[in-house]
Amino acid sequence: MRGVTFLGERKLQVAEFPDPTPGPHDVVIEIKASGMCGSDLKFYRATGGETAALGLGKLEGPVIAGHEPCGVVVAAGNKVEERTAPVGARVMVHHYSGCGTCRHCLSGWAQMCVAGSTIYGVTAHGAHASYMKVPAHTLVALPDQLSFTTGAAISCGTGTAYGALRRMNLSGADTIAIVGQGPVGVSATQLAAAMGARVIALDVSAERLTRAKEFGADALIDPRTDDPIAAIKTLTKGAGADLTLDTSGTADGRVTAVRATRAWGTVCFVGEGGGISLDVSRDLLRKQLTIIGSWTFSTIGQADCARFVADRKIAVDHLFTHRWQLGQAEEAYRLFDRQTSGKGVFVRS
Ligand SMILES: [Zn+2]
Ligand SMILES: [Zn+2]
Repeated sequence: MRGVTFLGERKLQVAEFPDPTPGPHDVVIEIKASGMCGSDLKFYRATGGETAALGLGKLEGPVIAGHEPCGVVVAAGNKVEERTAPVGARVMVHHYSGCGTCRHCLSGWAQMCVAGSTIYGVTAHGAHASYMKVPAHTLVALPDQLSFTTGAAISCGTGTAYGALRRMNLSGADTIAIVGQGPVGVSATQLAAAMGARVIALDVSAERLTRAKEFGADALIDPRTDDPIAAIKTLTKGAGADLTLDTSGTADGRVTAVRATRAWGTVCFVGEGGGISLDVSRDLLRKQLTIIGSWTFSTIGQADCARFVADRKIAVDHLFTHRWQLGQAEEAYRLFDRQTSGKGVFVRS
C-alpha cells in the first residue's frame, strides 16, 4: 500500500509500505478519510527535534503521517472479540495507545499513559495510507448518520475543539472569543454557536474570518487592523469575554486571550508549542482568572462529540475545502502550509 511520510523542511514522500496484518489484539482499518490537522504542520515543517518540542517523544524511522483516521474494519486479530470490532464496522480511531492499565488509560486518556503512549501518525504509522493497523481498544464507533470525513475531523480537530468547550463549561449564556480560525478554531466557532453561545472570532486571514462568519460567529476581529483586546471589550460593554479559547498557539494570540477575558472568566489554550510571558498580578491574580490547558479528548469525549454532532445535525463536512488523493499529498500540504484555506482531507477514491 501507499503511505505519506514527512521528511522535514516541508518535504514529504508517498512511499510503498507492506499491507498491515493484525496482531492478536489489533484490527486493520481500510481508511476512507484521513484529515489534515494543524499540528501536522509542525512535523511537515520540522527542522529536527520538533516532536520532542511538543512533548511527544522521539519519532523513529519513516512513519506514515495522519492522525485523523476514519474507515471500516477489514480484519481483526484472533483475540479481538467480534462485538468489539466486527468486520465492516464504521469506526474512528482514538489515535493513542498506552499500557492499558494505568488510571489514564483506564479512563480513556491513553495519551497521558504513565508508561508513555504511542501516537498514531506521529510515533507509529497513521492514516495517510490505504490501511492502518491499531489495537482494537482504540476504536470509537462512527454513528450511522455521520460521513467518514466528519469522523476524521472528530478524530482530532473537531474533537479537540469540543473537548476544550466542555472543559470550559461553555453555556448558551456565554460570550466566547476564539483566537485563530484554522481547523480547530473554526470547529470551536461552529460547536460553540450550536451550544447557543455568542462567538467573537479572531484571525489574521480575511478568508478564514469570512468562513468563521459562515460557521456562526457573531463578530469578527482581524488583529492586524484592530487592537483585539480593545475590540473584544467594546463588544462586551467593557467587561471582556466570559471565556476565551486560544487555538493559534502564538504568544500574541495567547496574551490576547488572557487580557481580553473578563474578571472571574476562563481562558483555555489548545494551540500547541511555544511559550508565553504574562504580568501575573495584573493579568491573572487581580482578575481571579482561570487558565486551562486542554489536550485533545478521551475515547468517551470523542464518542460524545460524535453524538453531539449527529444529534444536532452539525455540518462538520463544511470544514473541508479540499479533498485529496494520497498521490496529491505534496500539493495538499503546500496549500495547507499557507494557513489561509479551510481543512483538507485525504479520501479513498
Ligand atoms: Zn497507561
Ligand atoms: Zn491533531
